[in-house]
Amino acid sequence: MGCFNLLNTIRGKKNKYFSCGHLQSSLFFDYENNVKLCPFLQDRIIVKNFNGLWLDISKIIEKRKNSVEEMKNGIIPDECKKCHNLKNIAWHKSEYIETLYLNQWRYCYINCCYCNSPKQENLIEAKHFDVMPAIEQLIDKKLFTVNTKVVFECGDSCIHPEFDKLMYFFINYGMKEVTVNTPALRYCQSIADALSNNITNVVISLDAGCAYIYERIKGLNKFDIAISNIKRYKQYEEPSQKRVILKYTIIKGINDNEKEILDWYILSKNLGIKKLVFDIAENWFREIKDSIPDYLKEIIFFVRKISDFNEIKIEFCERAAVLYNLIKNEQNQKNKEI
Ligand code: SF4
Ligand code: SF4
Repeated sequence: MGCFNLLNTIRGKKNKYFSCGHLQSSLFFDYENNVKLCPFLQDRIIVKNFNGLWLDISKIIEKRKNSVEEMKNGIIPDECKKCHNLKNIAWHKSEYIETLYLNQWRYCYINCCYCNSPKQENLIEAKHFDVMPAIEQLIDKKLFTVNTKVVFECGDSCIHPEFDKLMYFFINYGMKEVTVNTPALRYCQSIADALSNNITNVVISLDAGCAYIYERIKGLNKFDIAISNIKRYKQYEEPSQKRVILKYTIIKGINDNEKEILDWYILSKNLGIKKLVFDIAENWFREIKDSIPDYLKEIIFFVRKISDFNEIKIEFCERAAVLYNLIKNEQNQKNKEI
C-alpha cells in the first residue's frame, strides 16, 4: 500500500463511494462567461471571463483530477454534502465529457413568474461569446465525442444567436443526444430536423393545461402559439420515439392543484405526447424543503398514480425527484415502525 493510501486508511478518511457525476464528467459554460465543473461551487470554476477564443484544456483535466482526488480522500465541501448530485456510489473513470451544458445563453423573451433567469441587462453586461471554437478544441482533444450528451438549458435556446449553427453541426457530426429546453414560441426547423434524425429531445415548459393559467405563469397570451409549435414538432418525431416532451413546474398558488395537472395531462394525451416531466419551482422548494406541506405530497402521489395507470409516463426531475424520494423514505420508515 502506498504511503498516501496508508495515511488515508489510518485516518479513516478515504471515501471511494461519495461521488458526483458532474465533477466526474460534466462541463458547464455559464452566462457569466465561466467554464466550470459544477453548477454551484465557485472553486470548481476553471476559466473566468472566457471569451470563446481559446480554452485551456489542460486546466480542465487537471482541475477535474484534483477535485475528484480530494473528494475520494474525504475532503467533501459542505455544499456537496447538501447537494442531491452527491451519490453514494463509486466513482467511475471517464475518458471524455459525458454531459456538456450550454448555459452561456440564458436570454428569454418570456418572464415566467418562477424563473430566476438573469435579466437582459445582466446578459448584455456579461457579453455573448460563440462556444463553437471551444467545442472544436474539445473534439480535437477527444474530450467531446458523438456520445457526449449536450444540454441547452434555460432561457430559450431557440433565440440563441448560434443555435441553428450548433444544431446542424451536432446533426452532421452524428451526435446521439442533444436536449433542448424551450418554451416553443419560436419554431426552429433545426429542432425539427434533429427530431427526424432522432438525436434531440425537446423539452417544452408549458406548466399549464389551459390558456388562463399559462398566461398567469408566463405573463403572455401565447398558449395557442406554443400548442401549434408543439404540433409541428410532433410531426417530425418517429412514432416509436418519445422526443417531444412537455414540462410542468409546480408553482405555489397557481398550478399546484390536481385539476390543472389533470388538464395538462389530458392536453398532452390529445397532442400525442408520450413523455412528461414534472418539477417544483426552485425558490418555493428552497423555502419548504424542511417542512413539506401535506397537500404537495398528495400532489406528488397523484402524479405518480396517473402516470402508473396511463400510457404517458411522467418523470420526476430535479426537486420533484428529491421530494418523491424523501416521501418514499418517510413511508418506508413508517412501515418499518408498524
Ligand atoms: S456534489 Fe453538487 S455541489 Fe458538489 S461538486 Fe457535485 S454538483 Fe457541485
Ligand atoms: S421559458 Fe424558461 S427561461 Fe424563459 S422565463 Fe420561462 S422558465 Fe425562464
